[in-house]
Amino acid sequence: MKHLLSEDVSNLPLSATLSMAKKARELKKQGKDIISLSLGEPDFNTPDFIKNSAIEAINQNYNSYTPVDGYLELKEAICVKFKRDNNVDYKPNQIVVSTGAKQSIFNVMRVLLDTDDEVILPCPYWVSYSAIATLCGAKSVEIPSDISTNFKITPEQLEQAITPKTKMILFNSPNNPSGTIYTESEYRALAKILEKHPNIFILSDEIYEHINYGEKPFSFASIENMYNRTITVNGLAKAFAMTGWRIGYIGAPEWIAKACIKLQGQVTSGTNCIAQRCAITAVLADPSKIKYMVDEFKNRRDIVIELLSKVNGFKLNIPQGAFYVFPDISAFFGKTIKGKTIKNATDFSMLLLEEANVATVTGEAFGQPNCIRLSYATSEIQLREAIKRIKTILE
Ligand code: PMP
Repeated sequence: MKHLLSEDVSNLPLSATLSMAKKARELKKQGKDIISLSLGEPDFNTPDFIKNSAIEAINQNYNSYTPVDGYLELKEAICVKFKRDNNVDYKPNQIVVSTGAKQSIFNVMRVLLDTDDEVILPCPYWVSYSAIATLCGAKSVEIPSDISTNFKITPEQLEQAITPKTKMILFNSPNNPSGTIYTESEYRALAKILEKHPNIFILSDEIYEHINYGEKPFSFASIENMYNRTITVNGLAKAFAMTGWRIGYIGAPEWIAKACIKLQGQVTSGTNCIAQRCAITAVLADPSKIKYMVDEFKNRRDIVIELLSKVNGFKLNIPQGAFYVFPDISAFFGKTIKGKTIKNATDFSMLLLEEANVATVTGEAFGQPNCIRLSYATSEIQLREAIKRIKTILE
């Protein structure tokens, strides 16, 4: 009966990060001592001050359906946050709260994209962007970048990628998987190109904004003449260690927000009431309250970079944010290791899984086939052990 699935879903690729995590779990079940560096999930608990507001919300009987776009108090709090952290003015009628940033991104793409529209994806990009674009019938147009430019695209590349069919571009800074952060002047230079093309929308995914190691990320919507066609996506999963609570949100031109509300109202309705109540506490909290997690990520980044740079064949950039390293491992292509010939990053990632018991994700899933992604959202002991194993099998 499987052939009766819709064509769109049959053709939809499985999320590479989730598939790798699943494979790692299966091998663990078989008794293998797998260290998983494949998932983008903080290994901290949700902070107590947030958990306490959830408990309060339960006791106050927040149990009914919520407004489709989110509680007004939460939308007001998000507006305060946008002004405080991003210097962007949004009103509550420009905010839509959803079930994770993933749904926010899906909503925006689904309400703006038509069949055959083109979506520009600067590489490397988060795995779901291209899958969602495809589901919307749109075509992904990738702009390549590599470690030599710290995985950033140039205005010239952007200009070349634009066609009369271009409808949207996705920016993600700090970036998953490379950890790259675009500076204000780099973003302004890209905006200069977009100024010439008033019908292109910009989706700026800022979910890793608080996880940065010095350089505060710049918000694309704060560029005055980009504000009216930028949709800013954010969420609580990463910075507040709240992946399972499923809260994402957008700030957008009102007409786009309204369309997202219409869509969401027919698909999921408003997101979870308890998660929304404690989201108010989280977004209003001073970012210094989560600094202990960011400091720990920075500490691990430094350790991982130091250890991996001693592995022959690994080329590294220094990630400025998020919690991933994205080494270029193309030096291994064509080599035979442990009887296995490495043709590409997927072979390399499988070699690490099968021979070193370390789960990573192939760069092919992120549109950068020379790299693999390792998440350092795991303990220092595990990270040290994983890199020791990798070094041992490669050397
Ligand atoms: N954007 C990026 C860049 C991400 O890495 C992720 C999560 N891996 C998301 C969006 C989705 O976040 P959420 O868990 O809030 O759906």
